[in-house]
Amino acid sequence: MDTQGTSAGSYDVAIVGGGTGGYATALRAAQLGKRVALIERDNRLGGTCLLRGCIPTKSLLRSAEVADTVAKASTWGIIAAGEPDWVQIKAFQTKIVDKLVKGLTQLIADRQIDVVTGQARLESGPAILVDGARITAGDIVLATGSRPRLLPAVTLGTRVVTSNQALTLDFLPTSVVVIGGGAIGLEFASFYRSMGAEVTILEALPTIAATEDPAISEALAKAYRRRRITVKVDARVQEVLEQADTVTVTFECNGATETVRADLCLVAVGRAPVSEDLGYEAAGIALERSYVKVDDELRTSLSNVWAVGDVASTPLQYAHVAFGEGIAVAERIAGLDPAPIDYDGVPRVTFCTPEVASVGLTEPLARERGHEVTVSTFNLQGLGKANILGEGGITKLVADAQDGRILGVHMVGPHVTDLISEGMLVTNWEATADELAAFIHPHPTLGEAIGEAALALAGKPLHS
Ligand code: NAD
Repeated sequence: MDTQGTSAGSYDVAIVGGGTGGYATALRAAQLGKRVALIERDNRLGGTCLLRGCIPTKSLLRSAEVADTVAKASTWGIIAAGEPDWVQIKAFQTKIVDKLVKGLTQLIADRQIDVVTGQARLESGPAILVDGARITAGDIVLATGSRPRLLPAVTLGTRVVTSNQALTLDFLPTSVVVIGGGAIGLEFASFYRSMGAEVTILEALPTIAATEDPAISEALAKAYRRRRITVKVDARVQEVLEQADTVTVTFECNGATETVRADLCLVAVGRAPVSEDLGYEAAGIALERSYVKVDDELRTSLSNVWAVGDVASTPLQYAHVAFGEGIAVAERIAGLDPAPIDYDGVPRVTFCTPEVASVGLTEPLARERGHEVTVSTFNLQGLGKANILGEGGITKLVADAQDGRILGVHMVGPHVTDLISEGMLVTNWEATADELAAFIHPHPTLGEAIGEAALALAGKPLHS
């Protein structure tokens, strides 16, 4: 065990896991005057988001955006040509990650949080054993995160990888099969297509982006077809065979068996919680499908033990959810009383091209919950700014027909992962379409998409 800062031993709060959930808890708890130990087995803080997830993948997707812009440069009267340099793309990714890890490490040090490096194990008491040394604390927070889920019939190899290995591959594939059409699969499929690869997505469900509103999944599928990404839905993967320089994936689709060969197969079929071999169950922590079971306040089955982030049995696996959960737990430990998180009100974002973002209820879910619903769908082609950017998409608002409250905002198109923050305010503050339509959005901007959809919902469409 290696401790940076003061000696290990007894703390107000001990946190297992230095990813987004763990470090957010640590920062807020320290801010509230608690003596905090943050235990991390990796030699760097940051966890999945910073080291293997959000940040490195978004760096790759920035390179993809530049490649797409260069490829279309003549649209804007610029003569340009370029090609990907994988070594430099990875170098950019590393530079961004290193800078953010350094910043985080400094922030943790500035708040006088003790970082304990080593493999933690929960013991009854409860206490935490880190490589033989015992740490006790008034409150313990489990924030051990998640890892890529694997498929039973699929063995990872040089050319059969998860998102973890994809970040550091030593080659850029010219053809890729992506298993799974959720956030990770969609983002990597988008990246590889922008790099010039032939891409096939195999999705077991009837649609890609299956958790989104059907109008959004459909618009995305159409956009992917236009990008010449092959999407096979209702596809059951039967075999993934790696040979010297190729991978052959056999799958069943609509009753027929098909095969596709590629340089690389990326397995992106979800993420599983990291809750095994950590002593959780032996210490008395109840698990639910391997997630640490928590109540509305993120308390586990043991008093004074909490769980946050991807390992907790809460509905969404997002870094921003982990931040929110970490802050809430730290505040409860400090005796404050934050409201339970409303997970419907958390924006969901996927950074593929075109981007996808949503918040609140989809149309089917709103109906399922008993709302009589009205919807408005605005095509971004009606916006000057979208035309200048040369990109399209849609914005769909779902509202309660009785009281006019906007229940859901759903977007596909350029920069919608940024624009959805307005949707977050609209749905969480329960604005009505009339109220939103009365606000004037700046012109010409992409933000007008939400304004135009609200005008239409209020019965006075302008550009549609
Ligand atoms: P996911 O659950 O979002 O999607 C996995 C997809 O794989 C599903 O559509 C599922 O039907 C499909 N699938 C499962 N088994 C399959 C099989 N045998 N054959 C074909 N398809 C199969 O999981 P993910 O994309 O791996 O992402 C994991 C988590 O990480 C998600 O909760 C996601 O929200 C989060 N994440 C978020 C972002 C982001 O915010 N942009 C990025 C990456 C990951």
